[in-house]
Amino acid sequence: KILNIGSLNLDRTLYVDKFVQAGETVRANELRTSAGGKGLNQSIALARAGATVIHTGAIGCDGEFLRAALENEGVDVTDIKKVDGANGQALIQVDEQGQNCIIVYPGSNNSITPEQIDNSLKRLQAGDMVLLQNETSNLSYALSAARAAGLYIVLNPSPLTDSLKKMNLGAVNCLILNETEAKGLTGCDDNSPRQLISALRKKYSDTDCLLTLGAEGAIYISPEKIYSCPAYKVKAVDTTAAGDTFTGYFLAALLKGEDIAAALEQASAAAALAVTHIGAAGSIPNFAEVEKFVQS
Ligand code: ADP
Repeated sequence: KILNIGSLNLDRTLYVDKFVQAGETVRANELRTSAGGKGLNQSIALARAGATVIHTGAIGCDGEFLRAALENEGVDVTDIKKVDGANGQALIQVDEQGQNCIIVYPGSNNSITPEQIDNSLKRLQAGDMVLLQNETSNLSYALSAARAAGLYIVLNPSPLTDSLKKMNLGAVNCLILNETEAKGLTGCDDNSPRQLISALRKKYSDTDCLLTLGAEGAIYISPEKIYSCPAYKVKAVDTTAAGDTFTGYFLAALLKGEDIAAALEQASAAAALAVTHIGAAGSIPNFAEVEKFVQS
């Protein structure tokens, strides 16, 4: 099984002709409210891929629907607590070109405490997997406590912040990161994957790194071997949650005992399907859809 300590957000997407500027008031053409957050998206991807998932998180007084959304997918929600105050939220503007501007308010996601983390970790055994992102409080505590418990730690260093850059990531077994995060963490400003790979190998010599490169595919870098997996050629309409889908499907495949090459292949198929649909969590395919896509 896998424990995901992750964010649960209330996403409000406002469709506008043009992004609002300082001092302006603009009218939105449409408002959509949905379940979001990297934590929630990754738990849904894991569950749809067939993994047994425990989600640890915190919702606010307006976040009950987030717990229900995960429960509907078969995720264990026992360790999601409800706190006073507002839920974590993302306010997203989407303009006519489909570009977005996002403000994230951590809200309830900042209420994850060391005690809550300890209680969840007690439900795992040495060798089980813990997944973390950078949208919840006490991340460095979670890293050291998971390490002390002998767990396999996967970190998606997203969003990349100055405090994360300064954090000791020595406890991490596997980093799953995109190009921007890889550049930010290593300080490498070269755009070529070759340079990024060598920067990651140098900085994280004991850590496996899974570097995702959008439509260019993904590369898994372990100290012994490098695997590369091209992306499927599809017509992308919305790449939101592509990385979350990739992460969930990749880890679920490893938990089922698949090797790295097969796990990359399944993750790449699932993420390609996700980018052909509009939306975040709603665009994550289920396992049957991924199997059908791979066979077609
Ligand atoms: P993030 O969403 O975290 O920035 P990426 O953009 O690197 O992550 O995408 C993650 C994975 O999703 C890629 O490695 C690839 O497999 C898949 N993907 C992303 N964009 C496309 C695309 N346009 N076509 C096909 N697959 C894509």
